[in-house]
Amino acid sequence: MKCPTCSKVCTEDFKPFCSKRCSDIDLNRWANESYVVPGEPIDGFDDELFDPHTLE
Ligand SMILES: [Zn+2]
Repeated sequence: MKCPTCSKVCTEDFKPFCSKRCSDIDLNRWANESYVVPGEPIDGFDDELFDPHTLE
């Protein structure tokens, strides 16, 4: 079985990935695809963290 991220041979510890890093990359990819929806508010984020006033 090959790592879906880099196509190297996967390891038992991180199956189906070859490493923790590749596992994280794949998870982030899925997270980005499912959470970033153009024109829609993002659920799960604290509004205060993204308040424009706090960024100034
Ligand atoms: Zn990999």
